Amino acid sequence: MRVCAAFCRLLQLEGVWVRSVVFEDDRVIVAVALRRRRLVCAHCAFSTRHRENEQRHESVWRHLDLGVWHLEICATLRRLWCPEHGVHVEGVPFARHGARCTRDFDDLVAWLATKADKTTICRLLRIDWQTVGRIIQRVGDEQLDDSRLDELFEIGIDEIAWRGGHHYLTLVTDHRAGKVIWGAVGKSKQTADAFFADLDPPGLAESDPDQAGAGVIAPTAPDTEPDGPAVGPRATKLTAISLDMGPGYAASARQHAPQAVICIDPYHVVQLANRALDEVRRAYWNELRDTDEPDAAKRFKDARWALLKNPDDHTTTQAATLRKLRRAGGGVWRAYTLKEALRAVFARGLTLADVTELIDRFCARAARSRLRPFVRLGQTIVKHAAGILAAIGTGINQARVEALNNKARLITRRAYGFHSARAALALIHLTCGPITLSLPHEQTA
Ligand SMILES: [Zn+2]
Repeated sequence: MRVCAAFCRLLQLEGVWVRSVVFEDDRVIVAVALRRRRLVCAHCAFSTRHRENEQRHESVWRHLDLGVWHLEICATLRRLWCPEHGVHVEGVPFARHGARCTRDFDDLVAWLATKADKTTICRLLRIDWQTVGRIIQRVGDEQLDDSRLDELFEIGIDEIAWRGGHHYLTLVTDHRAGKVIWGAVGKSKQTADAFFADLDPPGLAESDPDQAGAGVIAPTAPDTEPDGPAVGPRATKLTAISLDMGPGYAASARQHAPQAVICIDPYHVVQLANRALDEVRRAYWNELRDTDEPDAAKRFKDARWALLKNPDDHTTTQAATLRKLRRAGGGVWRAYTLKEALRAVFARGLTLADVTELIDRFCARAARSRLRPFVRLGQTIVKHAAGILAAIGTGINQARVEALNNKARLITRRAYGFHSARAALALIHLTCGPITLSLPHEQTA
């Protein structure tokens, strides 16, 4: 009896009392019973005194370790009938529905997943990575609040490679908050369409406009615009949407938020320049390899990062390599200076007029460069010049966009071990999204 009281205090599990404590070889098993008599639906607030049948379910949850001991909570649960969710096993206050771990354990895993690498988490908590994936999906689903889509003005839609580059995730970023607020598998127009459908669920806007947009901005009246679909109340608030240079997202943005200015992220422009530079470098390297200078070819291969990294981030060796490349001159050096010139176009503190002038000058230089990848890049930039200038005009903080993109990419690489894209998205949401995770002891404090 005294042991039970001690464990009741120790575990701090909501809504239960401890019936027995058993020590086994490697674990402590604590049997608990729910304090409440009423059965509560696992999905909603519905509760009833009525049991659906006499069936009983022995359930087990992993709880926070007790020293070196595994700790398991077990309870016998009943079945109920909810008018909305049908017949199922009753919910418990200390664990999420369908979980094999307590809420505290889930929360610890989710917090760790945003801070530590796979090996650390699996070894520390003695669980496999797929379990981590399931837990963060559960926590992510619960924490991701629809209200995060309420006050969006400037957003970015961007793709990110997932698992070796042939699968993609689309991420939507709130530029003002600097958070990733939506994600899905794919990178097509349909993927972006799915975002706009979540932003303004189709049924909601038609049945009750007051409820959908709190009556702030009325959706475009259908009779004034018979050709296009009405713009949803939350989509009408969007003033700018930044994109890459692909056609899919742009078509979706024009359709669902025609009032928003479409901007091309300078980040993507510089990325294209990096790709063009890498093409020039590789062509030259292949040329070298075909001559009788294998050493030169090898030296040159090492130059890749010296060329692609920003000069501010160079190591001493990379800086020395770059000096050698400059002395050698030629196409690779010309390509490098072009890339750096383009990067400089998007430096902070330049006015729109400056940038317009610099882009013109860059495109002229690229056209004369005799480097085919850069001639093509120049043409692409001319084609998207309006969007690029719009990005400068709207003043979306590029440094922040780039930092968030890089963070999301890093997290995605860590998520490669998950089998499901949903787990990867959950990790991105927990790490880069509008979610604040707390540890079990911080919640009780
Ligand atoms: Zn229910």
